[in-house]
Amino acid sequence: MPLAAATGTHQLVVQTSFLGDTVLTTPLITELAKRGPVNVVVTPASAPLLARNPDINELFVYDKRGADGGLRGFRRLAQQLRAPEPREGAAPAVAYLAQRSVRSGALALAAGYTERVGFEGSAGQTLYSKRVPYREDRHHAERLWRLAFPDRDAGAKVDALDTREVPAPRLYPGDAERAAVDALLGGERDDRELIALAPGSVWATKRWPYYAELAKALATRFRIAIIGGLGDRSEAASIANFSGAQGVVDGTASLSLLASAELIGRVKLMVTNDSAPQHLASAMGTPTVTIFGPTVEDFGFGPLAPHSISLGIDALACRPCHHHGPPHCPLGHWRCMRELGVDAVALAVDEVLSAC
Ligand code: SF4
Repeated sequence: MPLAAATGTHQLVVQTSFLGDTVLTTPLITELAKRGPVNVVVTPASAPLLARNPDINELFVYDKRGADGGLRGFRRLAQQLRAPEPREGAAPAVAYLAQRSVRSGALALAAGYTERVGFEGSAGQTLYSKRVPYREDRHHAERLWRLAFPDRDAGAKVDALDTREVPAPRLYPGDAERAAVDALLGGERDDRELIALAPGSVWATKRWPYYAELAKALATRFRIAIIGGLGDRSEAASIANFSGAQGVVDGTASLSLLASAELIGRVKLMVTNDSAPQHLASAMGTPTVTIFGPTVEDFGFGPLAPHSISLGIDALACRPCHHHGPPHCPLGHWRCMRELGVDAVALAVDEVLSAC
């Protein structure tokens, strides 16, 4: 439904960060959709994740490093996003800046949104008309959701809420994704439970190095699916070869992001790094064993699905050493990952499964 035809408060959400951030923005979108139509701006990489989201009025793709780069692309998008003319008695159009950049604030300003809500302390905060505390002590899904309550009174009520009031992140795989996963799984009978391993991460130091050994340890009891993108193909092949596991399902080459979410939704459990697949699992309600190396769950990006477990070497004084994960261990030993062994992860797998 085009924005002009919709009724209620007109709202814009700008989220052009990573895939996981986009998933964690869906509770905010759900909340805002109760008030009126929500338009959303995301990157080309993230856009497919939001397909069929019933809370989104219109999705805009901002290819800020490509086709929409530079001032011309910025102006073109601002024109497309143009806020409706204010009408007497009507609530003002509101933009929610889910990432903290100057560019997203400037985009909302250029698009004519007089009310612009973002986090305190953001690089772009001087462009906001309302600022919401960035609660370090809350999960990022909740932090983002809190943007929907920028007024002091509403914020106070939110503080009193049970966190279970926060809508869960959601993704909406459709028929095409279900068919892709059906085709990948094939029709053969396999009595083993299906579990998933997601060995990738954009950040090298966040990739736990023992997925192949773990697959070998679990292969007799479980059928294993490997989740990831094209960049994870060789890792997936190594895992399958080293483990000698029968019937490994390799989703890295053929599945779209949303089809990967569909596959994650069908497995009993997933072992993952602190990376995008974990957030897909949160959105699909699939429990995870999440492995944290240079980052920690306290940053607010842990798993949300019930029965999930987070693992990390808590005794290491150097953890956490980076908000995302450095390209190389600054101390050279990478103990945060190397010392987290297969046995500990396999034990956590059993613990999660026994709780499901
Ligand atoms: S400094 Fe510590 S936490 Fe950071 S990568 Fe190295 S071992 Fe991991």
